[in-house]
Amino acid sequence: MNHIPYRGRFAPSPTGPLHIGSLIAAMASYLDARSRSGHWLVRMEDLDPPREMPGAADSILHTLDRFGFEWDGPVWYQSRRSEVYQAELERLLAGGQAFHCGCSRQDILQDARFGAEGPIYPGTCREGLPSGKRPRAVRLRVADAEIGLQDRLQGRICQNLGRELGDFVIRRADGLFAYQLAVVIDDADQGITDVVRGSDLLGSTPRQCWLQTQLGLPRPNYMHVPVAVNAAGDKLSKQTHAPGLEDADPVEMLWRAAAFLELSPPERLRAASLSSFWDWALNHWQVDRLRGILTKPAPDQI
Ligand code: GLU
Repeated sequence: MNHIPYRGRFAPSPTGPLHIGSLIAAMASYLDARSRSGHWLVRMEDLDPPREMPGAADSILHTLDRFGFEWDGPVWYQSRRSEVYQAELERLLAGGQAFHCGCSRQDILQDARFGAEGPIYPGTCREGLPSGKRPRAVRLRVADAEIGLQDRLQGRICQNLGRELGDFVIRRADGLFAYQLAVVIDDADQGITDVVRGSDLLGSTPRQCWLQTQLGLPRPNYMHVPVAVNAAGDKLSKQTHAPGLEDADPVEMLWRAAAFLELSPPERLRAASLSSFWDWALNHWQVDRLRGILTKPAPDQI
């Protein structure tokens, strides 16, 4: 049998230090990879400077290291990959799969119907820039067809991109490449076989699958684990003031992340060494109890 070795990844955006929510995603991808003797890579998704915090990339890596995560190969930085994204973008433009769009947010709001994710692009520039408009963003053409995938935890996911979203942006009006484009190119270039990440990205996955088809790239397996939410139901993030883990006790925080992921870590493990914690977690990794769960209340954060 032709067996492709597992390659997983953790792909934080350096918008702030690692917090318990991102630790949970890191742990899930790490344990899933290592329990299958796979590789685990770290990719810094630093392609949106206005949202980034100076020093956050180094702080995240330092915390991961202090918490005992071991990654394979050098950390990959999206900020160094613009030429690759540009080449793929040009390929899509040349093939007619993507087009220049001259619409401002205002133009779109005027003409759009609304779907669950906001305004549905009304197709204004699809057949060429209307006169008087100058190119701003680049959009990927989508079809009126169901895009389906099987998520390992969340089951069958389907979205009709044409009806529910419309042609979507792959290079923004400010010239920055969109997350959707970069993530798909990098997952393929890094040979990722399994994407394990928070359920907040489930809604992006049909777009990513469509991009893979358009670019002729393989589709990895997907598993979206529950995300930690605060009392108001919001995902922990810099915006919701999740405290960073720079000074936190690693084993205690790992223990809480493992409990969140329903591994039922025994009490005694709270006082264990880092290496005993990881040995235990690797031997007890299982995901059955997370099936169908999108969010859970966050553990105590510090
Ligand atoms: N960089 C994204 C984030 O921090 C995650 C991307 C991914 O895992 O696909 O939300």
